[in-house]
Amino acid sequence: FNTLDRKYNIRLNSEQREAVRHGEGPALILAGPGSGKTTVITARAAFLIKEAGIRPQNILTLTFNKAAQQEMEKRFGRLYGSDISEKVHFATLHSFCNRVVREYERMKGRKLQRIEGSEQETGKHKLLKDIYLKINNSRINDDELENLINEIGLVKNSLIKEFEGLGFNTKRFPQVYRAYEDYKKSNLLIDFDDMLTYAFSILTKYPRLLAYYRNKYTYIQVDEAQDLSKIQFELIRLLSAESGNVFIVADDDQSIYGFRGAEPQYILDFEKQFGQCSIYRLERNYRSAGNIVRLSSSFIRQNKNRYDKNHAAVNASGKEPETVKTRSQREQLKFILDKLEEGGNSSGDIPFHTAVLYRNNLSSILVADLLERNGIGFKIRQNKLHFFRHWLVQEITAFLHFALNPRDVEAFSKIYYRMNRYISKAMLECALSGSGNRPVIDCIMDGIELKPFQLEGLQAVKLEFAQLAEKRPWNALEYIKNNFKYLESVKEYCGLMGISCEYNYRLFEILQEIAYNCSSIVGFLDRLAELDRLFEGNNAAACAGGGAAVTLSTLHSSKGLEYDCVFMIDLINSELPGDKLLEKAVELKDMSVLEEERRLFYVGMTRARQELYLVYPSASNHENLQASVFISEVCRLFNNELEKGFSEGAGVIHKKFGQGSIVSMEPNSMTARVRFKDGQVRTLDLRICIENRMIMFEDIH
Ligand code: ATP
Ligand code: MG
Repeated sequence: FNTLDRKYNIRLNSEQREAVRHGEGPALILAGPGSGKTTVITARAAFLIKEAGIRPQNILTLTFNKAAQQEMEKRFGRLYGSDISEKVHFATLHSFCNRVVREYERMKGRKLQRIEGSEQETGKHKLLKDIYLKINNSRINDDELENLINEIGLVKNSLIKEFEGLGFNTKRFPQVYRAYEDYKKSNLLIDFDDMLTYAFSILTKYPRLLAYYRNKYTYIQVDEAQDLSKIQFELIRLLSAESGNVFIVADDDQSIYGFRGAEPQYILDFEKQFGQCSIYRLERNYRSAGNIVRLSSSFIRQNKNRYDKNHAAVNASGKEPETVKTRSQREQLKFILDKLEEGGNSSGDIPFHTAVLYRNNLSSILVADLLERNGIGFKIRQNKLHFFRHWLVQEITAFLHFALNPRDVEAFSKIYYRMNRYISKAMLECALSGSGNRPVIDCIMDGIELKPFQLEGLQAVKLEFAQLAEKRPWNALEYIKNNFKYLESVKEYCGLMGISCEYNYRLFEILQEIAYNCSSIVGFLDRLAELDRLFEGNNAAACAGGGAAVTLSTLHSSKGLEYDCVFMIDLINSELPGDKLLEKAVELKDMSVLEEERRLFYVGMTRARQELYLVYPSASNHENLQASVFISEVCRLFNNELEKGFSEGAGVIHKKFGQGSIVSMEPNSMTARVRFKDGQVRTLDLRICIENRMIMFEDIH
């Protein structure tokens, strides 16, 4: 411990210490994951207060999302006590802008209404759905809605004024965008992204307000600055222009919000933007086991568009990171469970923190289901997921409700046209006008004139639902799929609406997997309601069972955080890399469009302290899946790493033949002659040995 370290209760290396001691003027820290960037930012705030006599309230530390802000605040509070930590302002860019806007509104005595995204029926989502429907005459699905929201965010963040020549994925994006903006304007509404542009224009228009903030925050620090967008960057420049005290921390390899307008180039051009500045580099990774550091750094080196950095591992090698191919979703879950039950943690009472990371929120449902069923404590870090409100889920539950209760006319009305049983609107109306005490089908048969074949058909439907009620839930869903041709009807519907049906297939599969673990239909319906509550509960729904040992998070929101053990799941093409980008890469024969996807994969890998599992299922219920191209890259890198060990004299341990050493390698191949302890020299194809886990190399690195 150095005296400075002791004073600040934190262990720093000499490079970090130098950065912490940075006083006035602009500074840039450019460094890889786990090198202590966030550590330095917090320590520097303490240093400014304790050594340079700066008042805590003059320091503004900005970061990207709420979780990162809270994490930093917590770390700071723990190290330096609440008396000073309460006065240092840790904020997200959005919360800071919100404060500016509020201040302005207070001055003006006028308040704009905030619209939030999460209220499905009232907020931004509903508004955008309605606008989209009106303009395109077709409905938008959840995936497309998310994309639309991102595209609106991109326009705002990049200050795009002219849409001509820009490719947006949303149908008639410019019209939808303008209708949305007009609606907000005439109803005095403001959304999440408006907060940034609005705050910026307030600060540029009201010099007194700007002066107030410039005087107040004479030291500005920004973490995760690689994800700053144009508007955010401009804001920071505006705020810090007078003092020039801006301390920026970034890793261009972790820039993952390009699709919403992040522009790491600003950071790389920092000197151009801010004039002469101090640049600090931190080159030692304190987070991850040596082999995780080496694998992830060779992985990211495949990106062309980046600044190369040194990543020396401080920690010794631990467990080899693993790529894990499973035959199905179900096996993927089983793998996670087995590993968790194995306990991973050898150090006894220290809690072993595990994260399950994925690209898409949908991946969290079955994992949450699994953990909850097994009494493993977990928390979900994400926005509310409206899976259980989706029409497909509603329809499937309506099928089952109707099977359980043939009088349930409401359930019947949701699905009569999905049964492929020639049930007409007139029949439905007849049923709706019935008393409600009689079975729906009986009402219809008595209520309208029907041809014999129609009567026969209805009798058959009645029987089918009675049989459905007796089935186990998984079989019931299989029956709905095969006999009522449910998915075919969904496919047709999606075709008509011009929406993707892949998403809906996926929802169906998730439902069926939940059903697999339920023994009765009633049990299944209860289970869905239970899961719905879990997801709707709050952002960090912790469930019973020994605290939150497992965190479920998207790769995007895992940025900046660390866990002892990381599972990255659903690593298939179409998921990561996403299908649109993959198509584009193939079409343009240009792999550089996948660089942001590779960075996202990298962010995931670099969250792990000790164990890293890269998991993917090779099939879903209805098709074979392709492993992510990044999985093959990782496997290739593994082999390259290993090849370094394939030199004369290198020691090996073979499962059958025991210890040995390489006598010679055949040129340009993986065939080796190895002398074993029994004196025999054997010729082995090392690649096959590795694939079958027959061989280990002594001290590869
Ligand atoms: P990311 O890019 O993922 O945000 P980072 O550069 O911000 O990573 P930190 O989160 O600050 O890295 O640090 C990673 C881990 O290394 C933390 O657990 C931190 O406590 C630890 N650490 C940082 N510096 C040192 C050091 N000098 N000695 C020991 N541990 C350290
Ligand atoms: Mg960090």
